[in-house]
Amino acid sequence: MPCALCSATLGLVDFAVPPPSTPAELVCLCGDCRKLVEGTAAPDPVIAGLLRDVVWSEDAGPQVLAWRLLHRVREPWAAELLEQVWLDEDRLAWAKAGLGGAEAPVEDAPLRVIDSNGTALAEGDAVTLIKDLEVKGAGFTAKRGTLVKGIHLTEDPGLVEGRVNGMVIVLKTAFLKRA
Ligand SMILES: [Zn+2]
Repeated sequence: MPCALCSATLGLVDFAVPPPSTPAELVCLCGDCRKLVEGTAAPDPVIAGLLRDVVWSEDAGPQVLAWRLLHRVREPWAAELLEQVWLDEDRLAWAKAGLGGAEAPVEDAPLRVIDSNGTALAEGDAVTLIKDLEVKGAGFTAKRGTLVKGIHLTEDPGLVEGRVNGMVIVLKTAFLKRA
């Protein structure tokens, strides 16, 4: 049997897919794919392309390995593919159990919220406004240099909420500087 991921026919080993299952799910892997599966490196574009097919495999072992490896491919097509591919409940739980911290699913990655300088903003940070902002509907202008303490992150990485003149308003991160 060739390598279950890349179809290589040399240097094959039987690899027990972690975490241990009963009976052990053995997958035939070549040396390169074994290193890939055991390490944390992202698959190169060639193997990533092959995983596109393997992730649809009916065999649990290859499918689970391909599913995990595709989570390391931080590209839109991989995220899209992972949304499309269907794993039954047991198989999905098993696949997820093998995702380490470094390989956490893309959707769990924290939103990256940055100010006008590219500095990361976190919940509760203080910021200053870098330009006068007219607050629509409130009849005042938040002046450049205004300090806004305790910002609140929103679903949108481009917007945060903060209290100015006693009112909670939505602020564009492009007009903020971390204080
Ligand atoms: Zn291989």
